[in-house]
Order: sequence, then C-alpha cells, then structure tokens
Amino acid sequence: MNKFIYLDAAATMQKSDRLIDAQAEFLREKYANSGRGVCARVAAVDNMVNNTRRRVADFMNTDSDNIVFTAGTTDAINRIVNILKPTADTIVVVSDLDHHSARLPFQFSGAKMVVCPLDENLCIDINQIPYADVFVVTAMSNVMGRAQNIPEIVRRAREKNPDVVIVVDAAQYVVHQKIDVVAWDADFVVWSGHKIGADTGVGVMYIKNPSRFVSDKVGGGMVNTVSRDGVIHFVDGPERFEAGTLPLTQIAGLPIAIDEIQNNRPNQDLIKYAYDEIKHIKRVKILTTRDACVLSFIIDGMHVLDFGAVAGAHDICVRVGNMCASWIHKKLGVDGSIRVSVGACNTKDDIDAFVSLVRGCVK
Ligand code: PLP
Repeated sequence: MNKFIYLDAAATMQKSDRLIDAQAEFLREKYANSGRGVCARVAAVDNMVNNTRRRVADFMNTDSDNIVFTAGTTDAINRIVNILKPTADTIVVVSDLDHHSARLPFQFSGAKMVVCPLDENLCIDINQIPYADVFVVTAMSNVMGRAQNIPEIVRRAREKNPDVVIVVDAAQYVVHQKIDVVAWDADFVVWSGHKIGADTGVGVMYIKNPSRFVSDKVGGGMVNTVSRDGVIHFVDGPERFEAGTLPLTQIAGLPIAIDEIQNNRPNQDLIKYAYDEIKHIKRVKILTTRDACVLSFIIDGMHVLDFGAVAGAHDICVRVGNMCASWIHKKLGVDGSIRVSVGACNTKDDIDAFVSLVRGCVK
C-alpha cells in the first residue's frame, strides 16, 4: 500500500496529537456548558472560553471584547450580511480573488455588486479602489496564495467613503502571516479554526466596534433580561453575538492550534521546491508565483479532475477543480486548477512523490 500523502492543508489542516488529546480530555473529564451554572466545573468551562477568547485576541492584536466565536468563515460572512442588512442600493465591492463564501452571501442578499479590478500581478489594484458601502477583501486567495496589502486597501477605501464597512476574509491569510487588526483597521475580520489545525465548527469574527451593530441571532446566553412585553436587554460583551451553546470542544482546542501555527508556519520552501521541480515539465502551466503560499497549476491536455483521480489512486491528496473560486479561474482563462499546499506534517519526500506523479502524467 502507498503511504498516504496529504498536500491539501489549504482546504483543511491535519490535527496534531496535542490538539486531539486536549479535546478528548475536555470531553472526558472537563465537559459542561458555559455560562449556565454555578458549580466549579461550569466555572472552569467559563474560564476556558474566556482564556481562548483572550488567546485569539492576542493572536490578532486586539482585545477579547472584539472577538466573537462563529462556526467558521462562511458562517461569519453570512452573519455579517444579516447584521448589515444590505439593500438593493448598498454598494458592495468584491474582487475576483474571492472565495464563493466571501462574495455569494452578499450577492444573494440582492445588494449592488461592484468588482474591484486586479492589477497585472493579480492583486487588488490599490489605484482603482471604487466607492463602496461595504468592501469585501480577500486577504489571501486560496488559488493564488498571495497576501494583499490590507492597510493600503482599507486606507484608500476610506478615502472614497469614510463610513465604508470593511470585511476581510482571512481564511487563508491566518495560516501564513500574523493578522494585526490595528494595522488593518478593518471593521470585520473572519477566519476558520480548521485551516490552522483546530477542529471544524469553530471560527472567529473580529468586530472593530461591536456596539455599532445589533446581533443577527437571538437566543440563550446573550440576554441579560427579557421583559414580559419582549424588550430584550443584551449582555455587554462579545457574547451578545453568541446566541446558543458554543462549540465548546473546538474552543478548548483552539489555543493549541494557535500556539502551533505561530511556532510552526507551513514550510514555504516546500512550495518553492515543488515549483522549481515542475516548472520545466512539459505541458505544465503554473498559475502562481514562486513565492506564493500555494502552488496552483494545470497540465495541458489533461483535465484537472483526471489528475485528481490519478493522484487519488496513488494516495496523494491535492485539491483539484475550481476551488470555490470561479472568478479567479475565469480571469486566468481556465475552468479549474490543481493546487498543492503544505502543513506541518509534510516533507520533501511528499513533494518528490507528487513531482514524479506529475512526470508520469505527461509521459
Ligand atoms: N475564504 C477562503 C479564502 C477560503 O480558502 C475558504 C475555504 O477554503 C473559505 C473562505 C471558507 O472557509 P470555511 O469553509 O471554513 O467556512
């Protein structure tokens, strides 16, 4: 049997033993609901949630009060649409770097969509930032793997409209670089825990000014009092946006994933090595730059899904298809691509196995 080779960390990162053990320990020995009791076990869960919130805040250079737990990036962007309630007159600026998760919730809301041009490097063109009521910025495309200049994009968008609401999709960026929400000055920054090695089902929504917005969800845990005639007094903190029971087990593991990603970012030398190895292979057309955080390419005359099937048959897992990013593929003039991405578990041997597979496919 072949060794299973996972080269798809950008889709979701494999979990460390430390994280799995911590979550198992929480479930076995520490489990209770948060904010719903006075016994020591519940207080310990409350502390755990507060500590994770502080750890996330520190990770993003902000305060706990600005951190809301969500189910992930897609969930957060749908929630932001419900919080902002755009109308047909609301101008929402997006770009072709967006993941479907970042753009479709706004498109679906019926808002007026405007596409910000990309420059010759396929980055958001900071010289052509349009007027926006809401600006959705993908900090790093999951296909192109390049960090965008968020502070400059935000500065220029605010020059056009000081009241613009900036929403940053940091689902890929968070894996590779430190998020500094002070430097970014965005209104919302969202990411998913599973991309950095935490469990699925937990994500983060940073809100710069929580008091400026009303929660899109109501329910348990976020209300102080409700009068008989239905007047609701919400709690003060970020819990105001967290109706219902939180994904506690995933929250218990999140600080571990943060420690691990901060201390051990994916080894980009492996991506550069893969780039150098396949760039001379005939029929291979690389779509990304050598310094990108992922390697995306096509093989002339071979459908990407066929490559995916061959790779799968060799127990090599890479991402193939449009990667929920149709717009950038359209811009590149292709229907889809093959993407290699790495995490802590990958070695040069994995890349060698992948490169010999590509060689075999073009023979
Ligand atoms: N945005 C980007 C750039 C992504 O790469 C992804 C996932 O691949 C998402 C959004 C959606 O993340 P999730 O499926 O965790 O909600």
